[in-house]
Amino acid sequence: MNEIVEFVCKRCGWCCRNLLETKDGIERGLPLTDKEATRFPQELVSPKVAIGITDPKIVVLYQLNVNVCPYINSQNVCEKYEDRPLMCRSFPIVAGDLSNRCTVFSYRIKGVSYSDSYSMEKQLDASVKFTLYLKNRIKKYYQKGLKVWEYNLATKNWVCRGFYDSL
Ligand code: SF4
Ligand code: SF4
Repeated sequence: MNEIVEFVCKRCGWCCRNLLETKDGIERGLPLTDKEATRFPQELVSPKVAIGITDPKIVVLYQLNVNVCPYINSQNVCEKYEDRPLMCRSFPIVAGDLSNRCTVFSYRIKGVSYSDSYSMEKQLDASVKFTLYLKNRIKKYYQKGLKVWEYNLATKNWVCRGFYDSL
């Protein structure tokens, strides 16, 4: 039987220095809740997801609009580790639309085979909290016919993703 091991971050800094990602023609950055967004320099924060009936009226999620996080230092240590966003806590179990770019997942720890699984309890917990946060934000304003918009960092335009119920 495979041993369940703790995920060990190599502190390579890759995930904190490659935050921007383009998928479905939309450039996206590190997702941030309301509170998390206030912990970053405001010029580095953009809206990410908004809801409304006819236009993106209420922003329910923010994002970092730069590729390299301002809090990763030259030793690859997060300078806001205790206060890091839920998305960082969940990494490399990612919630939402971020893809997994962790170098450890394709990295063999001595004595551990690729088929071994990581426990990832803390990461899963953060991922669930993030998903719940977004659901609850939308639930607060829910009404029939609600649409969801995503902000494209490349074009600085909102893109309609359709009715909330159909997503
Ligand atoms: S807040 Fe910390 S963990 Fe999150 S991207 Fe920035 S440096 Fe990395
Ligand atoms: S990419 Fe993976 S190993 Fe590297 S710093 Fe991020 S979580 Fe740690």
